[in-house]
Parts: sequence; structure tokens; C-alpha cells
Amino acid sequence: MTPEHRAALSRARTGKKHSPEHCQAMSRALRGKKKAPFSDAHRAAISAGLSGKTWTPEHKAAMGRSVKARLADPAARKAVSDRLKGHPTSPKTRAKIQSSILAQRDEMVTRTRALWADPSYREKTVRGIVGALNDRDAPSRLHLKVKAGLTGAGLTDFVTHVPVGFYCLDEADVGRKVVVEVNGCFWHACPICVSAGAVRAVVRNKRNLGRDKAKRTYLKNHGWTLIEIWEHEWEADPAGCIQRVRAVLG
Ligand SMILES: [Zn+2]
Repeated sequence: MTPEHRAALSRARTGKKHSPEHCQAMSRALRGKKKAPFSDAHRAAISAGLSGKTWTPEHKAAMGRSVKARLADPAARKAVSDRLKGHPTSPKTRAKIQSSILAQRDEMVTRTRALWADPSYREKTVRGIVGALNDRDAPSRLHLKVKAGLTGAGLTDFVTHVPVGFYCLDEADVGRKVVVEVNGCFWHACPICVSAGAVRAVVRNKRNLGRDKAKRTYLKNHGWTLIEIWEHEWEADPAGCIQRVRAVLG
């Protein structure tokens, strides 16, 4: 076997049909045959030709009308739909959609991480989540008085401090979805007691106010009946407050 023959056999075994010299020769030959790329002048000319060609608003409106008219026919709509079914999204488009979704996700993650790096944001969020739990461990003196009133009047289906969502309900009859909230006038910035003269209190309790508002909306949206007993109402007429609760329970 000549060395050339051996080399040829070896190439055949490794799947390489052509010698490196042959490959280079082919490459050189093909290079000459490749289409010349557009010259800058040519590209500019194409671009200039295209840029002048935009639809007039009238033309666009006419196209819209024509499409609308065509699609008014259910059969035509079905034909379009069938045609589209035959043309599934191309892998290229799919990849594009996929990468756009991933980019959006990455952006969201980055944004959240940046927010989370801010200690005040962290504290606020965690506080919101554990807010309900924090509320649980201290029924106020007023709350205890109202609870005693309810129990004394035989309204014993109420449970103290029931967590619902991110909130803690003062007294909840879970079966009937009735909730009694006991609001201290100062802490909840009572609109009657905390008047113009006590603006400071309102400012101080701004956070409480926002949370009360959100809680009311949440309870309403989740089918709860809310009875709010304010401190001043209880002080003036406890029997009337109990009566209000009884009326709702029916
Ligand atoms: Zn009040």
C-alpha cells in the first residue's frame, strides 16, 4: 500500500472525503462564485426607494374597511382561521417571543431585587405580611369591653382576631361572614372625634387610615358584612351598638 493510498483510506474512515488541499481549492473556487454583497451606494439607493413608499392615511383606512368587510362573513373568517392553522408560528418567531418573555422576566427580577435591596421597602413589605399576626396579640381595652357586651347579649358566635388574607378581624362570625371591627377614635382617626383641631392625630395615623380603607374594600369584595363600632359610639350607647350587630345577624 502506498502512503498516498493509506492516507486516502484514513480520510475515508474518518468521514473526510476531501484532502485539506482539495478543500482549500474548493473554497477558493467558491469564493469567486459568491454573489457580491450590496455596495453601500446600492443599499442606500434601495433604502431611499423604500422610504418614500408609505401608505397614505386614506389608503390605510380603505385597507381597514376592506378587511373588516371581508371578515364580516363567518365563512371568510373561518377560512382565514383555517389558513392560519396551517401556518404554525415559525421556530424563529417562537424563539423571538420566548426571548422577549424571558427578557421581561429578567427585567422584573432585576427590578424586584433592586427594590428588595432597599431596607425600607423590605421592612414595609414584611410588616404588611405579618401585620395581621402583629394585630392578633393585643385586643385593646375597648375591644375587650365590646366583646364582653356581645357575649353578654348572647352573641357568642364571634371569634376574636380571625386572620383573613393579610388582615386580622377583631370579631368575626365566620359562618355568617359578619365582622365587627372595634375602632379606637384616636388610632383610627375617627372622622367625628378627630376633627380640624386634631390634625396631628390624623397625620400620625395616616398609615392606619390607609390600612383601614384597604381592609374595608377587601372585606366587601370577599362577601363579608362589616359592622364598625367606634369608640365614641360605644361610650355613648353600648346597647345601641349591640342592637346594630343583632340586626345584621337577623
Ligand atoms: Zn369617634
